[in-house]
Amino acid sequence: MVRYVYDFAEGDSDLAGLLGGKGANLAEMTRPGMPVPPGFTVTTEACRSYLTCGREPHGLSEEISEHLTSLENAAGRRLGQPNGPLLLSVRSGARFSMPGMMETILDLGLGDDSVLGLAKKSGSERFAWDSYRRLLQMFGSTVMGVDGGVFESALSDLKRLRGAADDLDLDAADLSELVETYKNLIREETGEDFPQSSDEQLRRAVLAVFESWNGERARIYRRREHIADGLGTAVNVQTMVFGNLGSDSGSGVAFTRDPATGRAGLYGDYLPNAQGEDVVAGIRDTVSLADLEDLDPVSYAQLRGHMRTLERHYRDLCDIEFTIEHGRLWMLQTRVGKRTSEAAFVIAAELVDEGLIDPAEALRRVTGDGLARLMFARFDTSGVGEALAHGLPASPGAAVGAVVFDSAEAVRRAGAGEHVVLVRQETTPDDLAGMIAARAVLTSHGGNTSHAAVVARGMGTVCVCGAGIAVDIAARRFTVGDTVVEEGTVVSVDGSEGTVYLGAAPLAESDVMRYFESGERTAGLVESVARAMEQADRGARLEVRANADTPQDAVRARRFGARGIGLCRTEHMFLGERRELVEAMILARDETDRKRALSALLPLQRGDFIGILEAMDGLPTTIRLIDPPLHEFLPHRTDLAVRIAATEARGERPDPHDVELLAAVSRMHEENPMLGLRGVRLGLVVPGLVAMQVRAIAEAVVARTRAGGSPEAEIMVPLVGAVEELRIERTEVERVLAQVSEETGVPVHCPVGTMIELPRAALTARRIAEEAEFFSFGTNDLTQTTWGFSRDDVEAAFFSAYLDKGIFAASPFETLDRDGVGRLLRIAVDEGRAARPDLKIGVCGEHGGDPDSVHFFHEAELDYVSCSPFRVPVARLEAGRAALSGTRPNDSK
Ligand code: ADP
Ligand code: MG
Ligand code: MG
Repeated sequence: MVRYVYDFAEGDSDLAGLLGGKGANLAEMTRPGMPVPPGFTVTTEACRSYLTCGREPHGLSEEISEHLTSLENAAGRRLGQPNGPLLLSVRSGARFSMPGMMETILDLGLGDDSVLGLAKKSGSERFAWDSYRRLLQMFGSTVMGVDGGVFESALSDLKRLRGAADDLDLDAADLSELVETYKNLIREETGEDFPQSSDEQLRRAVLAVFESWNGERARIYRRREHIADGLGTAVNVQTMVFGNLGSDSGSGVAFTRDPATGRAGLYGDYLPNAQGEDVVAGIRDTVSLADLEDLDPVSYAQLRGHMRTLERHYRDLCDIEFTIEHGRLWMLQTRVGKRTSEAAFVIAAELVDEGLIDPAEALRRVTGDGLARLMFARFDTSGVGEALAHGLPASPGAAVGAVVFDSAEAVRRAGAGEHVVLVRQETTPDDLAGMIAARAVLTSHGGNTSHAAVVARGMGTVCVCGAGIAVDIAARRFTVGDTVVEEGTVVSVDGSEGTVYLGAAPLAESDVMRYFESGERTAGLVESVARAMEQADRGARLEVRANADTPQDAVRARRFGARGIGLCRTEHMFLGERRELVEAMILARDETDRKRALSALLPLQRGDFIGILEAMDGLPTTIRLIDPPLHEFLPHRTDLAVRIAATEARGERPDPHDVELLAAVSRMHEENPMLGLRGVRLGLVVPGLVAMQVRAIAEAVVARTRAGGSPEAEIMVPLVGAVEELRIERTEVERVLAQVSEETGVPVHCPVGTMIELPRAALTARRIAEEAEFFSFGTNDLTQTTWGFSRDDVEAAFFSAYLDKGIFAASPFETLDRDGVGRLLRIAVDEGRAARPDLKIGVCGEHGGDPDSVHFFHEAELDYVSCSPFRVPVARLEAGRAALSGTRPNDSK
């Protein structure tokens, strides 16, 4: 028979799936004899069954009754008895902690009779009526569906009437009046009386907790934290203890370390004469935990002892709720506490020093996403005061700018050199130009998968979403509470924290970034990060390279720990002043013209390669032959046409060069350039282009060798779909390499490999590997061609809708699509290695710096990932974490 109810004394943390985190942790505290008010847990299985079948699972109410009876026997009091009744709390608690997301009902069991009994037994009428009104409030809103706001306003009305500054200024008579008001409110709002039967209260409360699993808040939280919707919540039924019995009672929260900075020591808040959420609700000023030592030294000492025990038991930061009733300490909850990214690194390192965990476990407890957050500049918020608004941290970084309310204004002001923050209710594809022009995007509505969030992340623009501000586009202002922010006002947006400040907050440089840039190792956070990085590098099987096109980027990549360049794009070498030479090559009318143009480009390319090979001396540098369509290097067709038409309209003769260019551009126009004449196809049809590039590489290798360096150039052919393409290209590459070797007398050996970025290449990898010494997955193009998505078109147009509809959980351009693109990748790895066991295989593309994707590449047994220099530390950390068993990219404890 299935069992739906466990006594606290029966459970443990292995049963967290069944008992929920709170239930399992209550059991963990109960077993060693900590003072936990007795109780029992109704399992998540009961909840799942209730939610799928729509009715209470068979046998549940009998089981609850049995456990209730033993609770009553132990307490010597019955639920609902008129004199001195047993009172209960009914608390939600899912597998993963979802703080404040679901409901809890306190003081359950009171009614019109027993409130009098409670008053007599406790000797405090005020306490009894206060407890009753709390029950009505929590039961009324959670179980009976009355909007919680109506209770709040009834309470504040009464306080105003009595001139009471604080709840504590209301006396027993006031509170009993409030009870009447609450009961009437419940009747008015629901047409039903508050149930006086305590058994009915209990039954309905348990079911209401089940149902709160599907409440809107809980659903949003789960989506954000990637918690599965099918888990359900457990319900903990527990004997009440009372922090609101006078000044020798109170409630508090405590952390065994500072969850903001990770520093060791006791942190927390205590509120005398208070119950439940009063501590965190901000109704009165709390005192610090240290002050409890003066107020109640005995309880304080006990609490410290329990905190030490819990931290050693969980080997981690613990977050604790406690209540003191007439000088007696009760432990109400503990869990491994949430923490900032900074605290995660610091705590992990300290626990190693304290011998509680080993360095591998420390590495498990930090994440690449957390590291990335620490690398961004942040605001130095010490001087700017309170945040103006809070929203979702949708795209990290810090930006300052003047508020604007539409795309046109953003573009106009940005064009004049102003920094702007685009503020909208939500963005749509129509706002794209403004989003590109803005330093930051701020929206009042929408979540992490809203258009604003998706597009801003794709562009690397700071974004805070769903900030709950009231945006009035027509009036060109937004309001938060009493603050009105007009267009042009300067605000500071922190996309890592999800906060907005009025005015220009000063930027604080990131110490972690300084460490990666300079190696400067300071105590505390930086030291903790450095240790995690060392541990990661020790264990990683994946190597990390960088995508770098310039010597400066290459130098930075090395500082950040890259073990080579996985992708050096050569196309930027055709821009700027060199564009004219490219034009000349394209327009060449004969062999001689073309040769002249190409030989003018040669020394320039050679110079670039010498610089990069010098910066990466001794490490592999994968140089990709030209990839984009050549017309990208020519002026736009419409610009040319307009220029020519305007000249003609003035009755003048258009510039013949323009006319010639227009003809070329028109001739080369493509409907789908992404699928047109680019990649290896260019090398095969444009005479002399590849030979020039390879010669530049080979001569750079020679120059570096002669200078005493160890250049390790690798030549990579893009967009191959058929082995024949690669074979022809490779023959040409080798011809030129041999020629340069012979001319210079310096042997030049460059491995020749290919990108795998078309499905056909992946599917025919066995044959392609016959001609390739290495594969590098171009996962951006491979994602585009596998899904048939043109990235530039789809992201802004409909990705937010796709994410909302759950078609994918993350943009496949940010996190590799394991099922589709990943499957092609695995096929190519298997086939490629079957044909050539020593085939070197890597990834270049932004996925190389994405934590989840790095774990996949590790599992797929790639040799390296390559990503932008700034992501190199993140990739190194995750490569190390992927090599640890049982570690997921987003494990955040
Ligand atoms: P959450 O998961 O949101 O923290 P809890 O179930 O912990 O919700 O309960 C809400 C508040 O009620 C907490 O402050 C908790 O300490 C308090 N509380 C819960 N159970 C009891 C109890 N048996 N006696 C006194 N206070 C309780
Ligand atoms: Mg709690
Ligand atoms: Mg590509």
